[in-house]
Amino acid sequence: MIRAGVGRDLHRLAKGRRFLLGGIEIPFDKGELGHSDGDVLAHAVSDALLGAAALADIGELFPPSDPAWKDADSLTLLKEVCQKVREAGWRLVNLDCVVVAEEPKLLPYREAIRSSLASVLGVETGAVFVKGKTNEGLGPLGSGEAVEALAICLLERPQAPKDGEA
Ligand code: MG
Repeated sequence: MIRAGVGRDLHRLAKGRRFLLGGIEIPFDKGELGHSDGDVLAHAVSDALLGAAALADIGELFPPSDPAWKDADSLTLLKEVCQKVREAGWRLVNLDCVVVAEEPKLLPYREAIRSSLASVLGVETGAVFVKGKTNEGLGPLGSGEAVEALAICLLERPQAPKDGEA
């Protein structure tokens, strides 16, 4: 049995914050605002995995209202998500992502981001891909006010769920 999942996230950018993508810090004069460390890509990937497994969404698991998640390391949260997905019997086949930001350029960091995500997800780097896109200068993404991430994943598990099971 296979299932696809999609995740999307957006964070405002602000001075004095780290710009993190999939656990890799990219040198830039702004970074993601967020209750956690703001890693927009880790959040989109978490939601894709949770959605494919029909388990929850990241806001339910790690509510921004809970002080426990203040400045939380998003890779730790992603690890927890992976654990839940694995416990439900699912294995990740592949993950593909798009990060939309006018700046900074993602390409020089792409391999580091792929390796970082793959190691947390427990898959080969070849099963993870990430692409950077600009927003052609349009809207809040184009003016550098925000960064967006999209993720799609494919999960598989040996047998179909029984009736009433997620
Ligand atoms: Mg987020």
